[in-house]
Amino acid sequence: MNRPPAHGVAGVAGVVLEGTGGVWRVRTDAGDTIDASLRGRLKKSDAGRRRDGSLRRDTVRSAAESMKLAVGDDVLLEPSVRGGDWAIAEILPRRSALARRAPGGGQGERIVAANVDQVVIMFAVAKPEPHLRMLDRFLVIAEGNDLPARVIVNKIDLIDADEAHRRFGVYENAGYPVHYTSVKSKVGLADVQASFKDCRSVITGPSGVGKSSLLNAIFPGAGLRVGAISESVNKGRHTTVGALMLPLPDGASGFVIDTPGLREVGLWALPPDHLDRCFPEIRALTGECRYADCRHVAEPECAVRAAVDAGTVSEARYDSYRRLLEELEVG
Ligand code: GDP
Ligand code: ZN
Repeated sequence: MNRPPAHGVAGVAGVVLEGTGGVWRVRTDAGDTIDASLRGRLKKSDAGRRRDGSLRRDTVRSAAESMKLAVGDDVLLEPSVRGGDWAIAEILPRRSALARRAPGGGQGERIVAANVDQVVIMFAVAKPEPHLRMLDRFLVIAEGNDLPARVIVNKIDLIDADEAHRRFGVYENAGYPVHYTSVKSKVGLADVQASFKDCRSVITGPSGVGKSSLLNAIFPGAGLRVGAISESVNKGRHTTVGALMLPLPDGASGFVIDTPGLREVGLWALPPDHLDRCFPEIRALTGECRYADCRHVAEPECAVRAAVDAGTVSEARYDSYRRLLEELEVG
């Protein structure tokens, strides 16, 4: 194959931090933050190609449609034709995405953030009271996008440590890394800090659990006001993109993405028969059910219900599964 070099003109590489009203804030690899517009016609690139070089079907349909720019996209910038400004000339292939899927797949997909490495879900043991059905929903969204998830349980200074482990141990049993922290008392922060380094993390959770406080504590210089993330979420509701990516301060070389999109995935159209694989402890058992298409509700010889009865799968998690299944089946 005689393909031309991917980038004929020397472009400046960067990553999209934020987009509002047609202006995209891009952080260049050199560390500068600049505003750029999206060029009307993007250059031909590898975007939309699979690793083996074949074109993805949606690329054939419409490259522009499939490659709507999203926060987290790696891009190449060029000086705009009119001079002075920068234009995004090329969107580089995505390695992952956090997306809301429309029924029927592909076309209606809305990318919440691109190139996400992990989803970090933060709750507090109290103030506000944890709503675990919401935690299960966040975890399903991560699993549905094939993204690893971890859980931060903050404000452990407010209750007994055993009590915190009793409430959240079920997530450890399900296989998720769970960090018990107190930003206030500086407990458990080193492991959390390490997990944010050199990667792009979406952080989510109810407001007031301590997300801004945590990021300020582990990345001094992030300069977030307490409550800042919750505010950015509210602001995000009025923009088309909504997500906001924060470069971590020097030395950390990672990004944290806050996105209202993840909170709004209410009736997110995961095919109902994919739900069981979004609960790791249920996924591990589905092969043992009598029927391959077992919904784990009323079917005979269901290994999942047997495990719930035996106490090896948590009743609360199974209850979340049932509720989400009902929601998805209604559609
Ligand atoms: P966000 O909305 O998730 O960004 O939460 P904030 O960082 O704004 O924190 C909300 C409130 O919780 C603030 O008053 C913080 O001081 C407080 N807070 C944060 N972490 C802790 C903690 O570990 N323990 C206690 N007791 N309070 C905390
Ligand atoms: Zn079953």
